[in-house]
Amino acid sequence: MTAVLNPATEEAIAEVPGATVEDADRAIEAARRAFPAWRTVAPPDRARLLRRLAGLVEEHGEELARLETRNVGKPIQDSRGEVAMVAEVFYFYAGAVDKHHGETIPVAAGVDLTFREPLGVVGLIVPWNFPIAIASWKLGPALACGNTVVLKPAELTPLTAIRLAELALDAGLPEGVLNVLPGSGSVVGQRLVEHPDVAKIGFTGSTEVGRSVMAGAAGTIKRVTLELGGKSANVVFADADLEAAAAAAPFAVFGNAGQDCCARSRILVERGAYDRFVQLLVQATTELRVGDPEDDATQMGPLISADQREKVSSYASGTVVFRGNTPADRGFWFPCTLVEARNEDRVAREEVFGPVAALIPFEDEDDAVRIANDTPYGLSGSIWTRDGARALRVARAVEAGVLSVNSNTSVRVSTPFGGFKQSGFGRELGMHALEGYSEVKNVYLATEG
Ligand code: NDP
Repeated sequence: MTAVLNPATEEAIAEVPGATVEDADRAIEAARRAFPAWRTVAPPDRARLLRRLAGLVEEHGEELARLETRNVGKPIQDSRGEVAMVAEVFYFYAGAVDKHHGETIPVAAGVDLTFREPLGVVGLIVPWNFPIAIASWKLGPALACGNTVVLKPAELTPLTAIRLAELALDAGLPEGVLNVLPGSGSVVGQRLVEHPDVAKIGFTGSTEVGRSVMAGAAGTIKRVTLELGGKSANVVFADADLEAAAAAAPFAVFGNAGQDCCARSRILVERGAYDRFVQLLVQATTELRVGDPEDDATQMGPLISADQREKVSSYASGTVVFRGNTPADRGFWFPCTLVEARNEDRVAREEVFGPVAALIPFEDEDDAVRIANDTPYGLSGSIWTRDGARALRVARAVEAGVLSVNSNTSVRVSTPFGGFKQSGFGRELGMHALEGYSEVKNVYLATEG
């Protein structure tokens, strides 16, 4: 049994049995047996089941949000938003089931057809920072394409995944279609990666573990999609609406206590506007409400664990421009921290995954692009300017998969999400995600002779 903690109080809120390799094999076998029937469910019926699941997520929205907040320590308003997104994801992929189809291709002496075939059993390995949301980004397209699933939540945050699997059964998904396997990555995660009956791994987590997933998957030529770390730049030009950029910046890096792969943890500011921007940013960060995640007014909660707090604290050195306050009680709290840095410094190179942002001045547009791209990662980023042509030039030049202009938002249900470089490959969300959970089959029919 593993004790599941509330990071805001350090109290145990549940005991969950850690799955073994044998449990993993049983879950994979259940998914394998369920696959032939699930893949042949008529598309409108599969869509209806996913819509029902979306409806149940909405109906149980407050319960799921409370559970997520207690397990992850994230502010309740964030959990409500994420659970609402989960329902939206299942509605979207319910609608996509019958819109993801093949082609007929003109060829000589026959007819050529393509089909989108499911892969079979897919293993989904998700992290602790957005447990139910990231699970749904993978479950939606995987189930819509006709795959069956073994979902491994992070050991620290299994509770909403377990509840979601119950709701899936209530919605009428057949037994074996969605299996949840709480357990450690090095045991059951590893087993999913190596098992010959698992056709694909959809993984979100650290670049380090992503690398080992990719290497492990090579043994059986498994398909993989990897959503990995980030070190995204929030690029603020002097001609931007500085008040708007500064008011938004804290949420882009301190949201979810910085435990966000899209965190804009490098804030690049054009030198001419640097002092003014930093003044506005410090003021905005001071106003961020840090405290009890169950309070509707809270905007930032604690980190996930004592280990994470220790890791994050190793980055909060150098020239500290601002350090916020945290509750003095128990809990894995860490204050919002702004440090001045060079892009060569460790705080600007590594994924902190906590509320620490590096402030870096730049000279001009070329310099901004150079610094933004001087990282092994390429997930996300923002560009703040009133010059539309510059916004597009810089957006094209920055090597990242998900960019926003005069905004720090990265995620929408209907648009593709994923990284360049060592932030991974493959796309989640939108119609693009369906590519990662299906194979194209080409069938040629001779019509002559
Ligand atoms: P991990 O990459 O270790 O965890 C992600 C998932 O992978 C978890 O479900 C984990 O299981 C599982 N896992 C771990 N080892 C293996 C393995 N050998 N084979 C298969 N699956 C495995 O992230 P951590 O939770 O350890 O966080 C460490 C750091 O990673 C963070 O500080 C942050 O920098 C980064 N990170 C980035 C994320 C992102 O979205 N970019 C998300 C999470 C972390 P379990 O945890 O149960 O052992």
